Amino acid sequence: MKHAALWVILLTMPVRSASVPHNSKPASTTQFADTSEVRSALAWFARNVTWINEQQVRLTEIPAAPFQEAQRAAAVKTLLASSGLDVQIDKTGNVIGELRGANEKEIVVLSAHLDTVFPPSTDVKVRHEGARLLGPGISDNGTGLAALIAIARACQEAQIHPRRSILFVADVGEEGEGNLRGMRALIDAYKSKLKAVIVLDGSGTDHVTTKALASRRVEAIITGPGGHSWSDFGMPNPINALVRASVRFINTRVPVAPRTTFNIGQIEGGTSVNSIPYEAKLKVDIRSESEDELTKLESALRDSIAAGVRDEMESARDRSKGKLEWKVNLLGSRPGGELPANSSLLAALRAADEFVGTQSRVERSSTDANVPLSHGIEAISIGAGGTGGGAHSLNEWYEPAGRELGLKRALLTLLGVSGLAEEKSR
Ligand SMILES: [Zn+2]
Repeated sequence: MKHAALWVILLTMPVRSASVPHNSKPASTTQFADTSEVRSALAWFARNVTWINEQQVRLTEIPAAPFQEAQRAAAVKTLLASSGLDVQIDKTGNVIGELRGANEKEIVVLSAHLDTVFPPSTDVKVRHEGARLLGPGISDNGTGLAALIAIARACQEAQIHPRRSILFVADVGEEGEGNLRGMRALIDAYKSKLKAVIVLDGSGTDHVTTKALASRRVEAIITGPGGHSWSDFGMPNPINALVRASVRFINTRVPVAPRTTFNIGQIEGGTSVNSIPYEAKLKVDIRSESEDELTKLESALRDSIAAGVRDEMESARDRSKGKLEWKVNLLGSRPGGELPANSSLLAALRAADEFVGTQSRVERSSTDANVPLSHGIEAISIGAGGTGGGAHSLNEWYEPAGRELGLKRALLTLLGVSGLAEEKSR
């Protein structure tokens, strides 16, 4: 097989590029690609594309709204168990299937998140238009889940025996207010043994997320006594205070580099046009390439709310009718982090890219990989092949053409970091 030969050549070159020094290569990569097991695992994908597509449609049609992933988790558990893995569902709701390695003290994780952003009432039936599949969640993360299951099945069919144990994980709580709780629980449980985490999220083979974008989601609530628009005029008004605070906050200067952003995404309050409201709320999303800037911006928001409340109290004509209270709640916090350019995980991905003929653009994004990266554990997030679009919308679509490339790329990266067990007789 010319590919196998190429693989060996690539991996035995002393220094392939400045960013991948040879001493960061996993020890076993030079041996594993030319084995019959790996060749057979790679060949399994092309023969089973129809089955993989069917699993993707089936799983996508099981609703998995935030905090309601259990039914989809059960289906994934059955599929992983039928691939010969030892499968359990942890307290958080993560499905964890273990392929035991020769060295059980070291673990590598391949994960795909179970949850979608869509509420339970969403119609998640998948429609077929020619080669295209359409439906909420079909790509994010139907593609990742289908790949997780396909790679587990390919390893079983090809009798892959890894050196490090591999955990195939379908995790909960990646989206929005799930706040990465599934990945956080996983890292807490396995941190001491964990050597690398590969996250499969959405489609494509053109990028690798190695930089974790730190973000915080904050809610501010201002409350007051409330009253009648005419007879209580002059009483402090929570919406006025919120508007005063918002104007202050959006005038905050943020740096272009490190890139730092904010967004007032939701604002609500009041009961009727002729009532002085008793409550006003806003939700703000802040992101930055730097934790320091994030912290500065969060305190700017708190200062703005305090100042807005103070301004409103000072201008109120009738303070005897009560005062305003305010609080700021942290709805979510995603830690930042970065994979070192000379990591063995990135070297494994680059080698897999060369093998399958793909190229990965390095990206910064907010994904499940944020959690391991923030603990100094090697982690990446990649697409699982094919093409897709419209993520988080009702018009989300996926086209499976060429998905084998993504599956091979992910499998080779995984085996690049897990290694293969030494066989006594081959
Ligand atoms: Zn996703």
